[in-house]
Amino acid sequence: MLTDVRSAMKGLFFPQEQGCPICGRRGSQRHICQICLEEWAELADGFLPCAKCGRFKKAEAGETTCQECRENEPPYAIARCVAPYDGSLRDALHSFKFSGRRELAYPLGELIASLVASLFPYRLLAAVIPVPLHENRLQERGFNQALLLAEVVNRMLRIPLVPNALIRSRETHSQTSLSREQRHSNLKGAFEAGEDALPLQGKAVLLADDVYTTGATVQECSKALINAGVKEIYVAALAAGILTSP
Ligand SMILES: [Zn+2]
Ligand SMILES: [Zn+2]
Repeated sequence: MLTDVRSAMKGLFFPQEQGCPICGRRGSQRHICQICLEEWAELADGFLPCAKCGRFKKAEAGETTCQECRENEPPYAIARCVAPYDGSLRDALHSFKFSGRRELAYPLGELIASLVASLFPYRLLAAVIPVPLHENRLQERGFNQALLLAEVVNRMLRIPLVPNALIRSRETHSQTSLSREQRHSNLKGAFEAGEDALPLQGKAVLLADDVYTTGATVQECSKALINAGVKEIYVAALAAGILTSP
């Protein structure tokens, strides 16, 4: 009993300092600390983001866009991410999505918001739209990680959140074991623009996701929005893959 009172008092008079949500270092007040951010930035050393899709490609390759974007130009305007999908960022995204660490949405979402503010004409964006999760997956996980991230972007940058602009019209197989072509055909027609996309005709929007891997998902989402009359799509994700091809 005494111990309970003591610990309660301790909490009362000396509130526990909140450290970095990734490494636990003190002093960062729930934001991701500078040391973690530098570590993530170093993962991109020697690489440059493809000017179109934002995936990391060898810096000395000469071309500003990656081979894939040159061969099949994605339908969105531009995609960017915070850092390569590797190291403690990959671990953090795993615990956010699969171990239910929902509290990571805020510090991670903040990073997407500052990426958007520094790279995109964010004041012109009429909506932030999360990549939708199929109902079954949503029930399994309990939340859509892209929606939680989009909520933070909405709060920080005051871009209106339109969560139902896109609807997942059918469930798709897991993408992990599929080739690039298979991923694209697996997702064909998997997304539709909902009624909430109607007021976005002729406007520019932000599409938010956690990871940009092959880009098949955001490309299909972009097509659905463009078919519904959306003029321009900017894509922001936390992490993107490193390309082995130039
Ligand atoms: Zn840290
Ligand atoms: Zn590219």
